[in-house]
Amino acid sequence: MKRVLVTGGSGFLGSFLCEKLLDRGDEVVCVDNFYTGSKRNIYHLLDFHSFELIRHDVTQPIYVECDEIYNLACPASPIHYQTDSVQTVKTCVHGAINVLGLAKRTKARILQTSTSEIYGDPAVHPQVEEYWGNVNPIGARSCYDEGKRCAETLFSCYRRQCGVDTKIARIFNTYGPRMHPNDGRVVSNFILQALQNRDITIYGDGRQTRSFCYRDDMVDALMRLMDTPPEFGGPVNLGNPEEFTMLGLAERIAELTGSKSRIVHMPLPEDDPVQRRPDITVAMDVLGWKPTTPLRDGLLRTIEYFERLLVDDPEFCAAR
Ligand code: NAD
Ligand code: UDP
Repeated sequence: MKRVLVTGGSGFLGSFLCEKLLDRGDEVVCVDNFYTGSKRNIYHLLDFHSFELIRHDVTQPIYVECDEIYNLACPASPIHYQTDSVQTVKTCVHGAINVLGLAKRTKARILQTSTSEIYGDPAVHPQVEEYWGNVNPIGARSCYDEGKRCAETLFSCYRRQCGVDTKIARIFNTYGPRMHPNDGRVVSNFILQALQNRDITIYGDGRQTRSFCYRDDMVDALMRLMDTPPEFGGPVNLGNPEEFTMLGLAERIAELTGSKSRIVHMPLPEDDPVQRRPDITVAMDVLGWKPTTPLRDGLLRTIEYFERLLVDDPEFCAAR
């Protein structure tokens, strides 16, 4: 039985990863400071003997014994990571140093959840792993973009210099049940607005594109990446290569929810990337993976989740 540490394990992706690892028979240690994560996401796991929860901030060193580490700790939505940008940089950089130090001592294999944001506002489409990106190093998004880039550097240094078995996943926009209702991300915003017949807020003209990967597909990819041989460290793009405009997404969500919402336009946030789509050739070749959940199915499951959440916990839906 493997002992697996998941930092950020009470978040949107982390909680589902913990669940899948437990299903597979692993022992799971979930570490989280509950900055954006919630106990409600892991409440159903607390009774498992093989599940352990530690409230801890990854900017501080952590001492546990483990065979594998998934490093997910970091707020992922622009609103959340910009609220305390200094803490975001510390989480990305000090957090990476702490978990890499732990991996070096315990000889654990370690996976970093990096992001498509390391490409910034890309000048190359679709984005391939060889592309170095186009990032504003001092802009509003830089605490996250540059923090994650530095974490990739640290992972590469520990691999090259210390022989740590590292893996880097570059995650593109992912959605699904357990997204934070108020993280301001486009899928959760549009669904909640549509369900409550509030205005659907499109930033800019809505012609900017993103590609959306369903949570279950993403977690499957992360587990496959962790299981690759030590020679493979990535980075590897993980996401859905189908590209949608925000206008198209809004119309689709309005239709699926039968909403009476109006579509309104609001100012585009600073440094908002115009176009984003992953080239997933490496993921297909090395991991034998590609996303299988059509956007419609994933959206319907996410809509169902938020419909229930609005009834069960309206306060949580209103909270930041
Ligand atoms: P999330 O905000 O739901 O989860 C992040 C978790 O990390 C939360 O539980 C939060 O409380 C915890 N956390 C934050 N700072 C911490 C700290 N200093 N110490 C301990 N715990 C801390 O976000 P998510 O969508 O589940 O993202 C998980 C990871 O995947 C993040 O690293 C994110 O950057 C990356 N990622 C996600 C997406 C996406 O679309 N969801 C895209 C690219 C990258
Ligand atoms: N967006 C939007 N309306 C919203 C929230 C987001 O039009 O209510 C846009 C946002 O400007 C961006 C895209 O949707 O162009 C994706 O935003 P999100 O915050 O989900 O992710 P990211 O920008 O990090 O890809």
